[in-house]
Amino acid sequence: MSTTKKLVLVGNGMAGIRTIEHILKLAPHAYEITVFGAEPHPNYNRIMLSSVLAGGTSIEDIVINEWSWYEDNGIRVYPGDPVIRIDAERKEVVSQAGVRASYDELILATGSQAFILPIPGADKEGVIGFRDIKDCETMMAASHKYRKAAVIGGGLLGLEAARGLLNLGMDVTVIHINGHLMDRNLDLPAGLMLQRELEEQGMKFLLKKHTEEITGKHRVKSLRFTDQTVLETDLVVMAVGIRPQVELARQAGLNVNRGVIVDDYMNTSIPGISAVGECAEHRGIAYGLVAPLYEQGMVLAKRLAGAATEGYEGSVTSTKLKVSGVDVFSAGQFKDAADTRSIRIQDDVDGVYKKMVLKDGQLIGAVLFGDTTDGASLFSLIKSGENIGGREKEILLGVSAGGSGSGPSAAERMAAMPDDEIVCGCNGVTKAAIGDAVLNKGCNTLGAIKSCTKASASCGGCKPIVESLLVHYAGDAIGEQVKEGICGCTSYDRDEIVAQIKEMGLKTVKEVMNVLGWNEPEGCSKCRPSLNYYLGMIWPAEYEDERVSKFTNERYHANIQKDGTYSVIPRIYGGVTSPAELIKIATVAEKYDVPMVKFTGGQRLDLLGVQKENLPKIWEELDMPSGFGYGKALRTVKTCVGNTFCRFGTQDSIEMGIRLEKKLDKMVAPAKVKLAVSGCPRNCAEATIKDLGVVAIDGAWELHVGGNGGVKVRAAELLCTVKTDAEVEEWTYAYLQYYRENARWNERTAAWIERVGLDHVKKALEDREERLALVERLELTLGRTVDPWKEIIEDEKLRKNFTPLAGTQPAAH
Ligand SMILES: Cc1cc2nc3c(=O)[nH]c(=O)nc-3n(C[C@H](O)[C@H](O)[C@H](O)COP(=O)(O)OP(=O)(O)OC[C@H]3O[C@@H](n4cnc5c(N)ncnc54)[C@H](O)[C@@H]3O)c2cc1C
Ligand code: SF4
Repeated sequence: MSTTKKLVLVGNGMAGIRTIEHILKLAPHAYEITVFGAEPHPNYNRIMLSSVLAGGTSIEDIVINEWSWYEDNGIRVYPGDPVIRIDAERKEVVSQAGVRASYDELILATGSQAFILPIPGADKEGVIGFRDIKDCETMMAASHKYRKAAVIGGGLLGLEAARGLLNLGMDVTVIHINGHLMDRNLDLPAGLMLQRELEEQGMKFLLKKHTEEITGKHRVKSLRFTDQTVLETDLVVMAVGIRPQVELARQAGLNVNRGVIVDDYMNTSIPGISAVGECAEHRGIAYGLVAPLYEQGMVLAKRLAGAATEGYEGSVTSTKLKVSGVDVFSAGQFKDAADTRSIRIQDDVDGVYKKMVLKDGQLIGAVLFGDTTDGASLFSLIKSGENIGGREKEILLGVSAGGSGSGPSAAERMAAMPDDEIVCGCNGVTKAAIGDAVLNKGCNTLGAIKSCTKASASCGGCKPIVESLLVHYAGDAIGEQVKEGICGCTSYDRDEIVAQIKEMGLKTVKEVMNVLGWNEPEGCSKCRPSLNYYLGMIWPAEYEDERVSKFTNERYHANIQKDGTYSVIPRIYGGVTSPAELIKIATVAEKYDVPMVKFTGGQRLDLLGVQKENLPKIWEELDMPSGFGYGKALRTVKTCVGNTFCRFGTQDSIEMGIRLEKKLDKMVAPAKVKLAVSGCPRNCAEATIKDLGVVAIDGAWELHVGGNGGVKVRAAELLCTVKTDAEVEEWTYAYLQYYRENARWNERTAAWIERVGLDHVKKALEDREERLALVERLELTLGRTVDPWKEIIEDEKLRKNFTPLAGTQPAAH
């Protein structure tokens, strides 16, 4: 008589099959396994449906276990045949097609259903959820026939659906009941930043809208909201939440609340029946993300395989938005409460927001926007619950900057991590599996670990931890230097990318990503603008600036302020203006009710509080060149009064400042660039804390470089002393071009000089021919650079970007 027990799994999805995979490893011959799946497909990675919809991958690529896997492991499988009844007394299940299967152990892993709002018309053709391959195929088919899509729900899933539909060429509006997007994962500032970025990508939003009815005869025609406004649409995707599939369990008499109630070992209320995954409710929580479900699966598998295991204790979850091209990360308790404190950094210029929520010295939640490099480390700190008192700022400011922080090093954290901790949530890869790949399977590079275990092969969020684990396990045996790519989408650094662009003649952002094998087909907010810059720098004559690769400020050519308004800065060369210019500025400011006119720190007038739609009109009516108040470009050339008026002045600093600013006013660079010219060593223009400062001495000029008056003050260093005005120009342009060609994207001259050393720069510029060649290359670039403000004024299509669309304005904040 056979001792093999019968195990039946209901639900051929991610959690159930993961549990079976573990059982097969732990006790290969313990069970005769039967699987019922309502879907006709083999087990696939549901997470990646978003990428399938967005066009990054195909359905075949997301299959986790082919049919042959079931066969090879002796698993009997009934695809497309849902179980419709459980007879707990007879220990038997019955399928829709009439198959009866008896069991000793039954696992319910029926997952969830998309929640469809119970509103009139929700049953019309063209109204779907986003849950499985069928939904994905329905959306793809709709995009061939129809144009307009509405996604109800501005959470993670809704935005991923919307991004996919946008990629399919549809005109997409996201409807959300709350005031900001992803409100379950992001706080208000991050939510607003996300909205702006997505609007740039062409997504439209209707916030604080409640859908009342879906109209249309058979097929959806429009949505009507409670405020009686209407949106025409051909397709409605509901992404308002999920509901655990518990009907089967309820009918079988199991204790069910929101999900099937389970204990720490995934036992339900009836012996012999377990539940795992989204259909299960553990300690009051029904999880909707893969990582906790895989943890549950591991515990269940161990119990069923007779292996010792500690109970499942619940999980802290983290979220990452995939496929949108915007980096968003959130974990733990991200909202402030009475007993929490938080630290935030908001950089609207670069579109970066970081927040850490702390309680009793521990990190309990985090939100990152624009730069999510630290996500994995922060998440691991949240999970470990270690005390970070006194190191909070260092962690937030310092981790991505190379981890100069004092707390436990990455190595210590990796050593302390439990073996069964899931490192890659998307693919359920544990620390132990990575260790096994490195120690026993010869994987000594990130690429090898990726192909062997699939860790970091999906969303890429865990890459930093996988790299740290590689260092932890491989030590000296590491195959290739684990180097930081310019972002999580690539392992290539700046110099390699620049070299490859030149060598292979790559001409567009997309081409670079394709040829160099980017992990994320659309890149992220870190690599897109850098590639855009490198391409423009390398191919000044041919490259066309890619607007979509830029941040909000650069796309609107105005500095967005914290209340969502913009500012306009008329260019005031060398800080010199005239009564006529001032009258013009005042007239325009009055006409458009500009709430504030302010002198900036760099001798310019800033018109603050301008509505987006007024920007082109103001630029046009000012009829003056504008100055960058954002962007990685020349900001100002500050001057003192020099020998024109000053008793001490030995040289004409005003004339020199104006000359330099007129030449460089459209120069873009890896980071913002500020210049100053002083007419004598008293240095009233504070030229020695500028990226390049020119200071007059008796009969000559000194050029100081690499200064910074910002967060980290740095005195400039003397590059050279020259006699003539022409030489000042030659050295200035050559120096700036050398910086343009060699610095990393986002690297200010101060940081660059510190990295490469002043001697290196001096050497690079010492040869006159080299200098002139650099000047020539800069001139070529400047000769091709257009005035972006003029371009917008003159081009109706570009101007239209500034026209508000009804209901799509970000809420005032
Ligand atoms: C588009 C999309 C993107 C996502 N992105 C992420 C992400 O980035 N990160 C993340 O962690 N999670 C993500 N998720 C969630 C993740 O996919 C789920 O948490 C996970 O798939 C749940 O696993 P499960 O096994 O519990 O359920 P499922 O994978 O849904 O599997 C349940 C299976 O059971 C079947 N079934 C139901 N009833 C029966 C029955 N009576 N008989 C037989 N079979 C039945 C269902 O048809 C289904 O195939 C995403 C989900 C979607 C839809
Ligand atoms: S730097 Fe010299 S020239 Fe310029 S204002 Fe000051 S004292 Fe006068």
